[in-house]
Amino acid sequence: MIDKISIERINSLHPKIRDIVGNIYVDEVSKVLGVDTFCRIAYGLRTFKEQNELYSLGRTKLFSPNGKRLGIVTNAKAGQSFHNYGLAWDIVLIRNVQGKQSAVYETAVDFDKDGVSDWLEVARCFKKINAEWGGDWKGKLYDAPHFQITFGRTWKNLLELKRSGNVIVGTEYPII
Ligand SMILES: [Zn+2]
Repeated sequence: MIDKISIERINSLHPKIRDIVGNIYVDEVSKVLGVDTFCRIAYGLRTFKEQNELYSLGRTKLFSPNGKRLGIVTNAKAGQSFHNYGLAWDIVLIRNVQGKQSAVYETAVDFDKDGVSDWLEVARCFKKINAEWGGDWKGKLYDAPHFQITFGRTWKNLLELKRSGNVIVGTEYPII
């Protein structure tokens, strides 16, 4: 299934990867799972402001508006994540049963019973466009929802480009 919210988020990605991610999403990712499961892009571009807000959770911002204790969710400050340049996206699988949607974070599930976990099926599609998958990273780095295409850049490179004004005219995307 092609998910509209996901398409909007793909449209927030860096122009250099937007079309290839969009095409693989429409042509393959949207078709690889069973009829009652689909892949949602949970996050594309994250602005510097949004990154700092995320960084503050569990550090300077300790409680949610309804009084829930907040934990640390990221070690990246503004500029230190590939999401901040539109070069990373996160996914979640959504299960749609009898009109009720629920997120699936368990990566071993195989709802379409084809012998390959649904998360891995999605990862294989994105790897065809040379995306790196956080699910392949070991130990502390392991990040199953995360994909990125960095063109060999580090966040420091990208931050430097942005700071020195090497951005696509009218945007905040660094020229790479
Ligand atoms: Zn991510």
